[in-house]
Amino acid sequence: MAELVREIPPKADDLSEWYQAVCYRAELVAQAPVRGCLVLRPYGYGLWERLQAELDRRFKATGHENAYFPLLIPESLLVREAEHVEGFAPEVAWVTEGGGEKLAERLAIRPTSEVIVGVMYAQWIQSYRDLPVLINQWANVVRWEKRTRPFLRTLEFLWQEGHTAHATEDEAAAEVAQMLDVYRDVAENVAAVPVYAGEKSAAERFAGALHTYSIEALMPDGRALQAATSHALGQNFARAYDITFSAEDQTQQHCWTTSWGMSWRMLGGMIMAHGDDRGLRIPPKLAPLEVVIVPIVRGEGTAVLDACRRLLAACRDAGLRVKLDDREGQSPGFKFNEWDMRGVPLRIELGARDLDAGVATLVRRDRAFKEEGQKRTVPLDGVVAAIPGLLDEIQTALLTQARAFLQSHTIAPASSDEFYTLLSERAGMIDIPWCERPECEEAVKERTSATTRNMRRPARGDRCIACGEPATVQAYFSQAY
Ligand SMILES: [Zn+2]
Repeated sequence: MAELVREIPPKADDLSEWYQAVCYRAELVAQAPVRGCLVLRPYGYGLWERLQAELDRRFKATGHENAYFPLLIPESLLVREAEHVEGFAPEVAWVTEGGGEKLAERLAIRPTSEVIVGVMYAQWIQSYRDLPVLINQWANVVRWEKRTRPFLRTLEFLWQEGHTAHATEDEAAAEVAQMLDVYRDVAENVAAVPVYAGEKSAAERFAGALHTYSIEALMPDGRALQAATSHALGQNFARAYDITFSAEDQTQQHCWTTSWGMSWRMLGGMIMAHGDDRGLRIPPKLAPLEVVIVPIVRGEGTAVLDACRRLLAACRDAGLRVKLDDREGQSPGFKFNEWDMRGVPLRIELGARDLDAGVATLVRRDRAFKEEGQKRTVPLDGVVAAIPGLLDEIQTALLTQARAFLQSHTIAPASSDEFYTLLSERAGMIDIPWCERPECEEAVKERTSATTRNMRRPARGDRCIACGEPATVQAYFSQAY
């Protein structure tokens, strides 16, 4: 076995250590010479580009356009929506000097862009004919964090933020629901991470929003991961930033706005959900490389290398993301382990004996060593045709495994004692009829450090399992990232 694999501690022993080791060893990220920040290396950026492409396609298909707004926000603008600024104040970084001079007004580095977008929408929207405005921005934001965990918690991170303005509350509500469903679709059908979609409690709501909705995944250590949010902002931001329109009946009205975002955190969830003791297992739809070709060459291997190059060209022609690992001085075994560690879904092995027999071996990363179906021998002229079907199978298998985990770790306790025990043990998504009372949520948090993840209606019982008061919703509780 290669040393590479030994450098990754067993996943089941300590998920956090395993996670950090994999992110660095697989060359997704590197530590930056700035506290709290990370460098996204090409392979990690490749993951982000795949996620970006899948999201962007869905945004366009639902009528949105991309635009870009500035990084810096004047303080006088930021403070206009009181609840919003209060919610973000502890995390905001400020620019106080520029060009060698102290600035007359501090500039905030955006923690999110509702403010600057709101100011512009106020100028762009005059009449009901201008609505809806459906814009997405791909951007970086800064939120001052003390801890750093690749993709999950960093001071600066990449994301997208959608910002829309509508004439009616119903239209805004439909937009918020639509984008939440886009996120669910991408989490499940691209990242192969199953999620629960629902509304956040009042305490967990976005600062300044009327309603916040989220998708929540469950990680192997029993902690929940919020993977995306979609907010109904009501008319709060429209009032603060004067986003008004003249309606068909000539009255002047405030717009109903929304915002929604998914960040590179989704990648962190994907890594934790699928990886194993050998490293990453990347679902094909997110994989920067779907296929790696490894020639098995000892000594003179011109014929094998030529055959591998022909395979590479054929895979590229078929539109596959593929690489030929023809590095000299590394053994095939070393290369197998390295690409396994980096999570490439499918490997093609080709040696002299295979070439004589007119075959190649296809090896699936999602299956364990020597597991039934891990390897299959395919005639050389049928390799390219066999790949798309295999990639689909891998994509499906990863989602099926993750879904089985979520289902087996979603538990509906019968009593308050059982509820508190399960939360303290970090047993998974604990699903209860809940009262929606902030005092109840606070008490649970104090005792177990768990919070509500999200809620849906109706409640499946009369009484809150946590406190015994009348239940109004069904809620998932869990400790969270
Ligand atoms: Zn309660």
